[in-house]
Amino acid sequence: AVSLRDVRKSYGPLEVLKGVSFDVAPGEVVAVIGASGSGKSTALRCINGLESIQGGAIEVCGHHVGTERSEAQLRALRQDVGIVFQSYNLFPHLTVEQNVTLALRRVKRMAGKAAIEIAGAVLAQVGLAEKAQAYPEQLSGGQQQRVAIARSLAMQPKVMLFDEVTSALDPHLTGEVLRVMEALARDGMTMITVTHEMGFARRVADRTIFMRAGLVWEVGGAEMFRAPRTPELQQFLGSEL
Ligand code: ATP
Ligand code: MG
Repeated sequence: AVSLRDVRKSYGPLEVLKGVSFDVAPGEVVAVIGASGSGKSTALRCINGLESIQGGAIEVCGHHVGTERSEAQLRALRQDVGIVFQSYNLFPHLTVEQNVTLALRRVKRMAGKAAIEIAGAVLAQVGLAEKAQAYPEQLSGGQQQRVAIARSLAMQPKVMLFDEVTSALDPHLTGEVLRVMEALARDGMTMITVTHEMGFARRVADRTIFMRAGLVWEVGGAEMFRAPRTPELQQFLGSEL
């Protein structure tokens, strides 16, 4: 579903991705871990075309993005890729349902009734069917983040990217968001999730990618948490406990 080949990304003189390669199979759940500044968010942003790349190539669901790219290519790519960030960025003056249907109406030019039907389905999926008419400020942080996930799911992406979606939440609200993500994973969604939740990575991810200094340093299944091969991963896991 997703393939990165020797991807290089620089901000001015600062090379942030120094030749990143990995593949994600359809239905696979991949966690990305690593220290602050190692390039995790940048890698995600490259995958959905938010950032240009200076070397290598990315393929997502048949969309190819290299160092040259067109607006039409990017639009097609983004139709298939949903991304959810730490900050949920819901519109405060719109209801939950209006937040979820906005892109369906604007981007997909869908009629109101059809959009509301989809909103109902995705809100049920994240356990918030009864909050459709609420405003974001009436919801907890965890509920708002689940609305943000529902908004992304409404566009029927083939791949979902999550960037530290629980980092801004109190520990007791983190669990409800992780459970929604776990259910999505079970339903076969292809997911790449940047996370500090080592338990989630170990339990839910099919594979975990440890990034360090702009490189994929180590890749493995749950066993890599017990038996890291590199001293750098061992040290990182020690610091995360
Ligand atoms: P964190 O765990 O803190 O979120 P990260 O692994 O997601 O870290 P990135 O956000 O990908 O790290 O950043 C990697 C490097 O790129 C950092 O050194 C960062 O300062 C730099 N960087 C990120 N975005 C920009 C930008 N827009 N302009 C310049 N430098 C940037
Ligand atoms: Mg980040």
